[in-house]
Amino acid sequence: MAPNTSSAPSRNTALFERAKKLIPGGVNSPVRAFKAVGGTPRFVQRAQGAYFWDADGKRYIDYIGSWGPMILGHGHPAVVDAVQKAVLEGFSYGAPTEREVELAEEIVKLVPSIEMLRLVSSGTEAGMSAIRLARGATGRSKIIKFEGCYHGHADALLVKAGSGLATFGNPTSAGVPPEVVQHTLVLEYNHIAQLEEAFAVHGSSTACLIIEPIAGNMNFVRASVPFMTRCRELCTQYGVLLVFDEVMTGFRVALGGAQSVYAKSIPGFKPDMTVMGKVIGGGMPLAAFGGTRAVMEQLAPLGPVYQAGTLSGNPVATACGLATLRELQKPGFYEALGERTRSLVSGLTQAATRAGVSFCGDSEGGMFGFFLLEPLPQNYATVMTTDGPTFNRFFHAMLDKGVYYAPALYEAGFVSSAHTAADIAETVEAAAQFFAGR
Ligand SMILES: *Cc1c(COP(=O)(O)O)cnc(C)c1O
Repeated sequence: MAPNTSSAPSRNTALFERAKKLIPGGVNSPVRAFKAVGGTPRFVQRAQGAYFWDADGKRYIDYIGSWGPMILGHGHPAVVDAVQKAVLEGFSYGAPTEREVELAEEIVKLVPSIEMLRLVSSGTEAGMSAIRLARGATGRSKIIKFEGCYHGHADALLVKAGSGLATFGNPTSAGVPPEVVQHTLVLEYNHIAQLEEAFAVHGSSTACLIIEPIAGNMNFVRASVPFMTRCRELCTQYGVLLVFDEVMTGFRVALGGAQSVYAKSIPGFKPDMTVMGKVIGGGMPLAAFGGTRAVMEQLAPLGPVYQAGTLSGNPVATACGLATLRELQKPGFYEALGERTRSLVSGLTQAATRAGVSFCGDSEGGMFGFFLLEPLPQNYATVMTTDGPTFNRFFHAMLDKGVYYAPALYEAGFVSSAHTAADIAETVEAAAQFFAGR
């Protein structure tokens, strides 16, 4: 299809108008609506490698990759082949398959803290189930989470900090009764003194602490090594399960996930449970939660904690996930991906610095973040001090030049193995033009 000329009406706009009549906000997940940045969402027609084409036939370098899953880029031949074969053998059976066992074996092999796991269909479902299991296994009700970390949209997790440690959270969504979040304590990320205070008061009645080890839902913020060390120590001391939400970071930042990154700095480091999604499905609806055998054996049908799913372990999704995980294990995969991602962040930083624009960024493996401020933020409140209007102008300038970043300043970005040095150079050049011209 020929690219749309500027005089022709945009098909993106026409589709958005049609969508808005039937789908709330015109989208099936809120951030897609471009509400924060303004303008018209791009309706994707097709994607290949590092690119997608919108409804007007315009090409974009894709730094979202379905919000993380597409680590091999779009339409990787080995993955497409596996999915096509699987489809011919049936879409879903509601009965066990060898492929689920293979995927479980693969994950357990690559992530040493996981001894057993269960497959589900979304990160939300995995996080929600992990928390139920943690509560069931410990017989405790309270949970600790951190401001700016996202663990899916289960009721008990849609919560912001109350005033002080005595009061638990307040719902962040209508439709969540205050009673449902009364056991959720929300703390500041990377704040060791507050963490210690919270454990002193609530530690012995808390089931789990859930954390994004490298938070990708407040742009890109690492838990500091001292903070993570303290999380582990306090959880062990008080019998609280440490739950790593690696839905975004799992197989994205390293083959062993973010936990393998922390294990390099903290000897013997392991979480008790891990939640995964995104990359493990390779773009299909697939997620998982796993952990120690003692905890996982509390799950039905072995134990008293109920959890189920009609499409769990779906044969097409598991084929897609398995083919993806196999590609990731090829020698040098993460070295090359990490190098390419670092070259993007350093290129953007240099372009901004040359133009006198305050800017900083960070990355791990194929996940990155950048900020129109300095230095790197350590928590949600600081991330949110980013100048929103400038970010929005940057976003639209890049979009015009065919570079697709997340349409919100609190989202991380993703590079795939399909992104070439030329793609990175084109991106950096587009950013340099924006920085120089502002
Ligand atoms: C995306 C994400 C989720 C939710 O996963 P869904 O598949 O969208 O339900 C949970 N936790 C983290 C860290 C995520 O990035």
